[in-house]
Amino acid sequence: MPETFQNLIGGKWVDSASGETYANVNPADTDDVVGHFQSSTVEDVRAAIAAAGEARAEWKAMGAPRRGFILSKAARIIERDLEKIAEGLTREEGKTLVEARGETARGVQIFDFHAGEGWRLTGDTTPSEFPRTMLYTVREPLGVVGLITPWNFPIAIPAWKLAPALVSGNTVVLKPASTAPLTALRIVEALVEAGLPDGVLNFVTGSGSVVGNELAANPAVRGVSFTGSDTVGSDLYSQVTGRGAKCQCEMGGKNPLILMDDGDVDKAVAFALNGAMWSTGQKCTATSRAIVHKDVIDEFTEKVVAGARAIKVGNGLDPETQVGPAIDEAQMNAVLAYIDVGRLEAELLCGGNRLTDPPHDRGYFVEPTVFGGVTNDMRIAREEIFGPVLGIIGFSEFEEAMAIANDTRFGLAASLVTRDLSRAMEFVDGIEAGLVHVNTPTVGAEVQVPFGGMKDSSTGTREQGQVAVDFYTELKTVYLEY
Ligand code: NAP
Repeated sequence: MPETFQNLIGGKWVDSASGETYANVNPADTDDVVGHFQSSTVEDVRAAIAAAGEARAEWKAMGAPRRGFILSKAARIIERDLEKIAEGLTREEGKTLVEARGETARGVQIFDFHAGEGWRLTGDTTPSEFPRTMLYTVREPLGVVGLITPWNFPIAIPAWKLAPALVSGNTVVLKPASTAPLTALRIVEALVEAGLPDGVLNFVTGSGSVVGNELAANPAVRGVSFTGSDTVGSDLYSQVTGRGAKCQCEMGGKNPLILMDDGDVDKAVAFALNGAMWSTGQKCTATSRAIVHKDVIDEFTEKVVAGARAIKVGNGLDPETQVGPAIDEAQMNAVLAYIDVGRLEAELLCGGNRLTDPPHDRGYFVEPTVFGGVTNDMRIAREEIFGPVLGIIGFSEFEEAMAIANDTRFGLAASLVTRDLSRAMEFVDGIEAGLVHVNTPTVGAEVQVPFGGMKDSSTGTREQGQVAVDFYTELKTVYLEY
């Protein structure tokens, strides 16, 4: 019998005022109900915001190092429960157990990193032009913040918002993606067990248009950090900033991988398969455009197609599986619709179908798909597909490759494979992306450095690393004459 999970408001696990729940279903096996979650109302969100408001003063007064101790303890609890958390993640999101374990371990690193930031939440001391005057800055929390997260990294993204928000003294209402709330709940449980005071973190599940919208609209919420689609993010940004609060949005990508004629083809093939197919292509940093020099395009194409055909698609709980299902039926249908568009625009080289024969008959599985003969004006080269689909685009000159790579409204991640140092530096200088890779794949991020995009991928402020606290704090400048 699947468990029913509750909201956390003011330190108490409670049902929604709606009295209603929804089923969270395994996308690899729709007979497997992972759990039932609260279909929350605006009243539930308001109660959570009020509880966060009441907890503010005590949490702020605790001081950043001691707040960090709690994060550190939560990291140990997540580490202790890693297998259980990873299994739940695979069941609700579909990625493989190897990927889920890796993401959970990353959640541990994120909490450890920001626990340490509790020791370093510093301002600056600056010489004053006046005598006997001390001039310095301190960081102040924003107050109550709302965190709205997507389903594709259900532990890493809540963690990389929660950890800097909490260590810098904010109180939080977390609204996880409706299709993957269990993993976020596991982090909330870890923080509660670690000793987080009541009301500091509140957890409310339910639809984006109800729960998320109230976080965006409520004047008591002084900052909203959102990761998700650019359609939702751009409206949310206008709404939140329009009422004078801070808003941070990390959104989509259409990430290029350029392979030069002097680059290591096998490495580029491995990067393309990893970037485009692993996690079912459901990464904001997924490689979706392979921009390949004409002298190596035949070899690259042959190897990438062979690699894509060899991928084992299935239930992520099966240790043999390399690529899991789409998150739900709607996402699978959206990917299949893009594949149909691609069939008309370009040349389908492999994949292209839903897998429906056992053991795939109860899930949302799409074959790893590669298109050749792609040009950058095609829809499959311009729009984010968010599925295991790669388009291969040819070029002759480096400048042409750069123009193609930058000819997109997105600017999240980009990669170049080359042995030429000058080309590598020209790429770093000219590419319009927040995450720049040379001889590494478009995917993958370390916790100690900033993460985020340019252009329509991001509203500019960065998450992760030391700069993550910039969004969650305001500077107070102090003039002190003695
Ligand atoms: P989404 O549909 O935009 O949803 C993201 C979150 O927003 C969910 O919690 C969703 O709730 C909520 N939401 C939906 N409508 C809302 C509204 N009107 N007001 C407030 N909140 C609302 O995105 P997704 O499908 O979960 O995630 C995939 C997208 O995320 C892709 O575009 C991907 O590129 C992007 N992404 C970006 C990054 C990055 O760091 N740049 C990282 C990962 C993913 P419900 O779940 O209840 O609908």
